[in-house]
Amino acid sequence: MDLGLAGKKAIVCAASKGLGRGCAEALAAEGVALTITARTAETLEATAEEIRAATGAKVTAVPGDITSDDGRAAALAACPDPDILVNNAGGPPPGDFREWEREAWEAALNANMLAPIFLIKAVVDGMIARRFGRIVNITSSAVKAPIAILGLSNGARAGLTGFVAGIARETVRHNVTINGLLPGPFETDRLMSNLAARAKRDGRSFEDVVAERRAGNPAGRLGTPQEFGHACAFLCSAQAGFITGQNLLVDGGEFPGTL
Ligand code: NAP
Repeated sequence: MDLGLAGKKAIVCAASKGLGRGCAEALAAEGVALTITARTAETLEATAEEIRAATGAKVTAVPGDITSDDGRAAALAACPDPDILVNNAGGPPPGDFREWEREAWEAALNANMLAPIFLIKAVVDGMIARRFGRIVNITSSAVKAPIAILGLSNGARAGLTGFVAGIARETVRHNVTINGLLPGPFETDRLMSNLAARAKRDGRSFEDVVAERRAGNPAGRLGTPQEFGHACAFLCSAQAGFITGQNLLVDGGEFPGTL
C-alpha cells in the first residue's frame, strides 16, 4: 500500500533509538524527508546515516533536548514547515508519589505534556494552511491502564491526551489529524533497563525476568520498534485523514478491555 507520503517532511523527536527510531525508519521508507532529534549527537548521527543508507531518504540530525526551548527551536529551524510531527521524549522515572516534590512533577509535565504541546502550537497553523498535517504523540499504554509506580507518566500523559482530544476535532476539517500512539511493552533500551532494574531488585536473573515479561503478553512476546513504526506511518498516511483524536494501543492485546 502506498501511503501517499513521498516528498513529505517530518520532524521525529527523540529518534536515535527505540520507538522514535522505529517511526523515523518507517517514514523514511515511504520517501519522507526527516529531521530527527536526540540529545546524544554521536548516536543520533549514526542513526541518521543508517537510515540514509537503508532508505535513500534525506535525514537531518539535530542534536538537542526536545524538552527545552532551545532543543525545539533547533528542530524547527531545521524543518520550519513539517507535514508530519512525531512527538516523543524519554519517560519520567518510576517511584512513590509521596516522594515526588514540585520539581519532579514540573520535569514530567515539561517533558511529556508541555514539550509536545509547544511543538504542536509551532507547526499546526502551517499544516492547516497547507491542508495536510499528521501529528502523532507517542504516549503510553498507561494512558488507558495507569500503572501506580509510573504516576508521573500517568499524570503528564493524561494531560497531553486531554488537551489533544479538544484540538484534534478542530484541525481535522483542514486535513490535519492529531492522534496518540500508545506503546505497550516494546523491546527497546528503556524497557530492557527497566527489566534489568527489576531483576536486580528481586534477586533474579535478567533472562528470567525478560522471559516472564514476554510470556505475560497475549502475543507471547514483546513488540518491535519496527512494528510500532509501521503503525505510526499508517496514522501519518494520506489514507488516515478521517482518524483523529484517537489513542491507538499497540500492545499485543495486553490491555484487557473490550474497548
Ligand atoms: P529508548 O529506547 O530509551 O529511546 C529513547 C530515545 O529518545 C533515544 O533516542 C534518546 O536519545 C531520546 N531522548 C530521550 N530523551 C530525550 C530528550 N529529552 N530530547 C531528545 N531526545 C530524547 O526509549 P523508548 O522505549 O523508545 O521510549 C520512548 C517513549 O515511549 C518514552 O517516553 C517511554 O516512556 C515511552 N514508552 C515506552 C514503552 C516501551 O515498552 N519501550 C512503553 C510505554 C511507553 P538521547 O538519550 O541521546 O537523548
